[in-house]
Amino acid sequence: MAEYRYVIAPPSVVAVPVAGGGAFPVRRVFCVGRNYAEHTREMGGDPDREPPFFFMKPADAVVLNGADMPYPPATKDLHHEMELVAAIGTGGADITEQEALAHVWGYGAGLDMTRRDLQGQAKKEGKPWDMGKGFDQSAPIGTLAAAERIGHPSRGRIVLRVNGAVRQQADLSQMIWSLPEIIAHLSALVRLAPGDLIFTGTPSGVAAVARGDLLEGEVEGVGSVRTRIV
Ligand code: MN
Repeated sequence: MAEYRYVIAPPSVVAVPVAGGGAFPVRRVFCVGRNYAEHTREMGGDPDREPPFFFMKPADAVVLNGADMPYPPATKDLHHEMELVAAIGTGGADITEQEALAHVWGYGAGLDMTRRDLQGQAKKEGKPWDMGKGFDQSAPIGTLAAAERIGHPSRGRIVLRVNGAVRQQADLSQMIWSLPEIIAHLSALVRLAPGDLIFTGTPSGVAAVARGDLLEGEVEGVGSVRTRIV
């Protein structure tokens, strides 16, 4: 490959710290929509009939654990969505369910923050979700843990507290599409690459947050995520 003299400074690599040392460089952020039945119902969908679908956030939407998240512009309805995040270590296309977990480097707890009013307007008008989902600093994520240390969690409590009160609570086993199924579907659409993150969907209980709110999420056996809205 040619070596370029860049005419502007190249963007820096976004990296998420890893438990035990080191950092995971982020390439892309994929998110699964409606992956818990109760949340699908609260959003007006039918959990029995909808195949998994995907949307994206830019890599630099990541907010590192403990850092503040600025309340974003252009919304009056910023929602939390607490999720298990899978970090892809080995890429591939058309990955089978049986092979899928071998492509996962590790896991973290994340928040798919959503400008619900913009997303709702986009849905109504048949327009893309990008501005409702992929805005600046829309993806707080906790320290990642290697699968070789914690295994591949398919059950365990997922919980989000806002100012100490439980807002979302479920079990990973309640996901409609398991992580192997998600990876099989997604890798049939795009070739997954090392550094990709996959937000695996949120349980019910999504609601608005305000400036000053403290969000603390935890995925049992995986880790936690913490941010304050400022
Ligand atoms: Mn989500």
